[in-house]
Amino acid sequence: MRIFVESGIVTLTFLLASCAPKIEEVRPIVSIAEDSHSYARPGDARVLAIELDLSVDFEKKVLSGSVTHTIEGKGKIILDTKDLKISGVGASIDGQAYKPTAYKLGATDKILGSPLEITLPEGTKFIKVAYDTSPSSVALQWLSPKQTAGKISPYLYSQGEPIYTRSWIPLQDSPSIRITYKARIRTQPNFFAVMSATNDQRTAAPTGDYSFTMSQAVPPYLIALAVGEIQFRTIGGRTGVYTEKAMLDASAREFSDLDAMVSAAERLFGTYRWERYDVLVAPPGFPIGGMENPRLTFATPTIITGDKSLVSLIAHELAHSWSGNLVTNATWSDFWLNEGFTVYVERRIQEELFGKQRSEMEFAIEIAELKAEMATLPEKDQLLYVDLKGRDPEEGVTLVPYIKGALMLRAIEEEIGREKFDAFIRAYFDHFAFQSITTATFEAYLKAQVPELKLDVKEWIYKPGMPASTPKINSLLLNAVDEELGNWKKNKPVNTRDWLAQQWLHFLRGLPADLNASQMAKLDADYQFTKSKNSEILDVWLMLAIRHKYAPAQAALETFLGSVGRQKFIKPLYQELAKTADGKVRAKALFSKNKENYHPIAASLIETLLAK
Ligand SMILES: [Zn+2]
Repeated sequence: MRIFVESGIVTLTFLLASCAPKIEEVRPIVSIAEDSHSYARPGDARVLAIELDLSVDFEKKVLSGSVTHTIEGKGKIILDTKDLKISGVGASIDGQAYKPTAYKLGATDKILGSPLEITLPEGTKFIKVAYDTSPSSVALQWLSPKQTAGKISPYLYSQGEPIYTRSWIPLQDSPSIRITYKARIRTQPNFFAVMSATNDQRTAAPTGDYSFTMSQAVPPYLIALAVGEIQFRTIGGRTGVYTEKAMLDASAREFSDLDAMVSAAERLFGTYRWERYDVLVAPPGFPIGGMENPRLTFATPTIITGDKSLVSLIAHELAHSWSGNLVTNATWSDFWLNEGFTVYVERRIQEELFGKQRSEMEFAIEIAELKAEMATLPEKDQLLYVDLKGRDPEEGVTLVPYIKGALMLRAIEEEIGREKFDAFIRAYFDHFAFQSITTATFEAYLKAQVPELKLDVKEWIYKPGMPASTPKINSLLLNAVDEELGNWKKNKPVNTRDWLAQQWLHFLRGLPADLNASQMAKLDADYQFTKSKNSEILDVWLMLAIRHKYAPAQAALETFLGSVGRQKFIKPLYQELAKTADGKVRAKALFSKNKENYHPIAASLIETLLAK
């Protein structure tokens, strides 16, 4: 099986893109042939739409049923699969009568899974694949009742990005292949199922049998499903929150600004094109911050703080409604097109809602984090366009595509002025709406739209490190914290009045490396860090508590590791524990107690680091 398909189409894309003087000629000429993370060959045959019919079996931890593909092409079609049990494939000309057709499941690659090659008899327009998922499907997390907030019923959710959708649906799993989808999901009568599609059963009683339609073409990684004792609460005219009953009130309060957020984003970047914007607050084991599943962002419950201090995560996921979901990276090497644009848009939404000081502060914090991470990355991973051939696309998920990407856009904004840049970015979203594009296509479009640009875009995209043209972000709010840190170090009074969560984080990170027991105790007595309800603040404090062996916070550490599954928090905490011999013994004991609460991907990362 050819995994890394070389093709003339790649060359053609670059040729056309680089000699394109006018916008009209810069079409997103994208071919799956460029995507080394999919077996599909859409040049031969491609999927246009899928229709799922699946039953959810919580006992066996499998989804079983079928997927019907509407296809274009002839000869044979290749789908991506991972850990799927295929029980039959049928082909049809009219979508009514299906005849069994030959298929072959190829050898398994650890990262990519197995290609499913299906013979297409003459005239085939539809294929139906009958299959079961495996309990170890990397996209599906099956939670036991005790892993949920409600503790009574099990729960299931999917996470498709980057290349996990193939472990619950056999399909052409490349972000360059956009498809529409329909689904029928059957589960227990008292459970709700929700998807990144129309969720019409918002107000009706549960029936256990649900239908969904996503009529806008999306890349496969954005197909998402959650099933459990989920309830809904309306927030505004086109927004609402889905979550377990135990978290419904707090979630609705935290997200009360959701409608205002969507409107702010629209004022900046044009019409919101996905009709509704709802948020699913996932159970505690959710491994990531948020996932921008269209119409229905999945979010970690760790952002429910009671003071809205962490809702910028929602601004980020909402921003993806333009950057990522509307205009999508064609391959995972172009991931910065999704994330760099999204961080830039997120900062702008935040500025619109909470003012420039707050958005600049968050940007400054992220830039410091980027610089720290970059110092640990090999040069090849410091580029915006990362070569991921033969690698797991997860390896490209660093702060580089996110923050360096956003900084490049900020540099363009500073050079040409905000008014012109805003016009550019709106035109970009319109021009490439519902398409998947490469970095080369972006470059050509930028060149055509802003021919006077002096910024060395190639340096930003293809060279390691931070370019000399990196914008300087000066945060007055952080400068104020730095001043108070100086006072703290000199034992002078410290003024923390009206500090925002991010200022507290900056304060904690700026404390001296050699804190002693009485300093830790005084900090805790003065500011109640061990009791913090803010997961970000508590996380940084617990890191200090491990480092400085601060005994009074150890119980809080164990509770945190037992109740939170967000990888960003738990992995560094285990890592910090493992730095000493006795800490490592404790880390292993805590991990074996908690690992079933964690997402399999997070758990395997921690397992690996504890095994070192
Ligand atoms: Zn994102």
